[in-house]
Amino acid sequence: KAPSPLPEALPILQLVGVRKTFGAFAAVERIDLDIRDGEFLTIVGPSGSGKTTLLRMLAGMEAPSEGDISLRGVRINETPPARRPTCLVFQSLALFPHKTVGENIEFPLKVKKVAGAARKARALELLRLVQLPESYYAKNVMQCSGGERQRVALARALAYDPDVLFFDEPLSALDYKLKKVMEKELKDLHRLSGKTFVYITHSLEEAMVMSDRIGVMRAGRLVQVGTPEEIYTRPSTKFVAEFMGEVNVFDAVRSGEGWRIDGLDGPAALDLPPGLRTADAAAVVVRPEFLRFVDGQADAQNRLSGVVFNEYALGSRIQYQVRVGEKTFLLELSRANAWGGKPGDAATIGWDARDAIVVAA
Ligand code: ATP
Repeated sequence: KAPSPLPEALPILQLVGVRKTFGAFAAVERIDLDIRDGEFLTIVGPSGSGKTTLLRMLAGMEAPSEGDISLRGVRINETPPARRPTCLVFQSLALFPHKTVGENIEFPLKVKKVAGAARKARALELLRLVQLPESYYAKNVMQCSGGERQRVALARALAYDPDVLFFDEPLSALDYKLKKVMEKELKDLHRLSGKTFVYITHSLEEAMVMSDRIGVMRAGRLVQVGTPEEIYTRPSTKFVAEFMGEVNVFDAVRSGEGWRIDGLDGPAALDLPPGLRTADAAAVVVRPEFLRFVDGQADAQNRLSGVVFNEYALGSRIQYQVRVGEKTFLLELSRANAWGGKPGDAATIGWDARDAIVVAA
């Protein structure tokens, strides 16, 4: 007898048609999403796109207006935060300022009536996990740096032993360098803790570094969910592509039998995905590393003429800003293949259809 296929693992959290309205305004619009046990899922989107509202529903601070949220198959729409196996780590961290690191970490254990010695042992274990020296146990949290407080907050969250940790922009108050360090640490801690992390941020860069999957929100809707690689290489819409930053987006419109892009020499050569065969407009996304200078030796199917007005050295790579009419495009070369011209020179840039991603306008 053939073995039956393994049942699909139950998502730890499942959202079906989840909607949240405030009066006539929908902050979150009918979201369907499975959050997998143990994954690091990041929700990104611009300010006001509904990320916090979504997280508050997941954490139990708001109930959905419509739809259902389930935890391991059990509906939890109205279950209060304290009765969920989840924990929220805030941007402000919400540590007790006049208490020691140890007292902060032990707080959840005290609430659970864990005995003193066991509490301390667990707190020291958690300190090790978040890579703080044991001597920090007796230190006042106010004497800790921003990054250290971040770790204390995480250790305290882990002391609740939740199945899911929610993070609401925890790194936004840190300076750039520390933020970069903490991104990597959070990713390591996720792996070491084995917990499910759901993280919200408006920084796609942050999301890219840490996440197993990313969900992109726009105006209350979840417009794309995928691995960082999928979001980067196959954005589903112009919005997602532009949200990634540092991409070139050309607006294409249907013109008779073919397609037209402003500024292009001749009709556009595009590889249209099946979903856009009958569309009247599309956005053509070309990453800076796929845009190139066109000269006597190298031609391209799509060409635009403009002026190079800036050049940035980025270590092993060089970026060029090229102005074509009113628009500016970004082109990137490895230093070894640097362009021969200088800022102010006219240049023709181009790309082949296979180097572009065509998405909904
Ligand atoms: P940010 O990145 O700025 O925190 P966000 O993506 O987290 O934004 P939300 O805070 O979820 O966005 O807000 C989404 C929309 O819902 C906003 O337009 C906001 O004004 C609105 N909103 C949120 N909470 C309420 C509320 N309690 N009453 C009325 N409107 C609300």
